[in-house]
Amino acid sequence: MRPQLLDRLFAPVTTLSGVGPQLGRLIERAAGPRIVDLLWHLPTGLVDRRASPSVTQLEDGGIVTLKLKIERHEPGMGRRPYRIICYDGTGFITLVYFNVKGDYLERQLPKGSERIVSGKVEFYSGIPQIAHPDFVVPLDQAEKLKPIEPVYPLTTGLPPRVVQRAVAGAVERAPPLPEWIDRGLMQQRGWPSWNEAIAAVHEPQSEADLSPETRVRERLAYDEIFASQLAVALVRARRQRRRGRATEGTGALSKQVEAGFGFALTQSQRLAIAEIAADMKQPQQMMRLLQGDVGSGKTVVALLAMLIAVESGAQAALMAPTEVLARQHHATLQRLAKPAGIEVALLTGREKGRPRDALVAGLGSGLIPIVVGTHALLTSDVAFRDLALAVIDEQHRFGVEQRLALSEKGDNCDTLLMSATPIPRTLMMTAYGDLDTSRLVEKPPGRQKIDTRAMPLERLDEIIDAVARAVQRGAKAYWICPMVEESEDTDLAAAQERHRILAAMPAFRGRAGLVHGRMKSADKDRAMADFAGDGSDLLVATTVIEVGIDVPQATIMVVEHAERFGLAQLHQLRGRIGRGSDASTCLLLYQAPLGAVARERISILRETEDGFRIAEEDLRLRGGGEVLGTRQSGLPALRLANLAAHEPLIAIAHDDARLVLTRDPGLESERGQALRTLLYLFQRDEAVQYLRAG
Ligand code: ADP
Ligand code: MG
Repeated sequence: MRPQLLDRLFAPVTTLSGVGPQLGRLIERAAGPRIVDLLWHLPTGLVDRRASPSVTQLEDGGIVTLKLKIERHEPGMGRRPYRIICYDGTGFITLVYFNVKGDYLERQLPKGSERIVSGKVEFYSGIPQIAHPDFVVPLDQAEKLKPIEPVYPLTTGLPPRVVQRAVAGAVERAPPLPEWIDRGLMQQRGWPSWNEAIAAVHEPQSEADLSPETRVRERLAYDEIFASQLAVALVRARRQRRRGRATEGTGALSKQVEAGFGFALTQSQRLAIAEIAADMKQPQQMMRLLQGDVGSGKTVVALLAMLIAVESGAQAALMAPTEVLARQHHATLQRLAKPAGIEVALLTGREKGRPRDALVAGLGSGLIPIVVGTHALLTSDVAFRDLALAVIDEQHRFGVEQRLALSEKGDNCDTLLMSATPIPRTLMMTAYGDLDTSRLVEKPPGRQKIDTRAMPLERLDEIIDAVARAVQRGAKAYWICPMVEESEDTDLAAAQERHRILAAMPAFRGRAGLVHGRMKSADKDRAMADFAGDGSDLLVATTVIEVGIDVPQATIMVVEHAERFGLAQLHQLRGRIGRGSDASTCLLLYQAPLGAVARERISILRETEDGFRIAEEDLRLRGGGEVLGTRQSGLPALRLANLAAHEPLIAIAHDDARLVLTRDPGLESERGQALRTLLYLFQRDEAVQYLRAG
């Protein structure tokens, strides 16, 4: 249960005075639904009203606060605005109002009275004026006017003043919280307490206060990072306490299979296998992530891991996110496992009736040692005699429950997650700190560097001709059309149109396929199979092609509107070529003019094929906000931490979280209690549950 102390922070924003359902919805859109979201809604700018020059010294465009005497009103006429002439003892200035009722203004600014007026000065025919001042207050209420106002990200229809007031209300409600950060670290860093930090972050005094590197912002970022590190450390600790199974191979099957590979494993493949074998041998549950760029040879590693399970007399299963990938894995694994006489079964939504019954029976009896499939593996009637290893390919495309559901079909089954999305180390630690990782850092030998070039879309005709010539010489080419979320239909239309045009050209006639996300999976498979086999030479596709497709003969990739793709995504796409021994070319077609970031993305792609390096650059270019890989890998968004600026904090938080848990595994001490508050504050409730569940 969340400590009561925090309840008011988790109340809806509509519990603030002055925030009804309508404003509540707007605030929710801009910041979030609860009071705590307003605390995390950090200002991105400020308005400084401290300047108070005399009227004769005003500058155009300046924001000023003036003490003025109201001299006279000039009511508006037709399109002429209402004007109020004021005097400060040195000169005259006009307050200008459009479409405002005169009687209201007469009450607010009665003739002969004095008022404090704040707003932006503009000169009109040499006369200073302020149109619709931001503030007009009587002298005895001067304290109502804040000399410096924070500026917040807004949404359409949400007035700045409303957000300011709502945030101020939220800050007022923040209860005093116990300190969860290590005292020594606080001192060394000069960090304020949480309450001081929350108050200060919403009262910036200068532009410098808006920088992520201030002590205030650093502290808040650390809280967020620390909460996530602590949460993953708890999950990890729980897993390590749980019983596992010790699975050890004999090497008999893997030796035969390896002999049939026809190539030697790379250094990193060997290391990954050794790490996996060591984990499986431990009487604890393995939870290991095998990260490797496209084409780095993860499948082979997965097979050798599965053989360890089989050699020990148990079974293994591999689950892929799509039918296409499952079939492709099945074909590969079947071929590779053959020399050892191991049957690999396939179970997807398409296996039905008798054959499916036989298959399910085979898994139940243990007759089938290895099965590859889709979500269909999770169906309740699929049971194993003894599942020792669950492999999840493209793991980020499954929900957490689905990932666990497969392992749960075994008794303390080990889990190997695989991902071709190279996740930067920093992100890896914040989100998957509880996983052990193996990385395949080198490509199998014999691959040539892909020739990557960028060209403006105006040269489309030229490029089509070049691709046509290459295809006539026997090459195979992918042609990628962008898929942008907002209007899938238009993008689809673009891909269909491109396919229509290309398919009509003599060079491609009858040899051009099309795949997109809206196709039935059987049709998709057929188009893919045609392209992989002898059916077609050109495959027009939307980004459905992104992951996993393996056609080594394909050597050309054209990406239309490359500027719309993220760096990591372009890298994934490009990984579809350069998989064989022939030289490959990737043509990035862009809409000119290219922005600075798009230009840099392209130059990084030209420079390197190292997915991890590209992921790091991607993170840097995006400043840690919306990292494309983030959404793809289902990482939680960070609101206070900026990974580009706060990266060094991650390692500190990581170490401290582990240290804390070694000393106080149940979070019982005084600091332990404070840490529980931290976890609840960042809604890591489930991590706290783990403390009890054990
Ligand atoms: P990934 O799943 O990581 O994208 P794959 O496992 O599909 O990569 O491997 C890509 C290709 O490289 C496959 O055709 C595979 O047989 C081949 N391959 C894997 N390991 C090696 C190696 N050590 N040497 C040569 N080729 C390899
Ligand atoms: Mg084990």
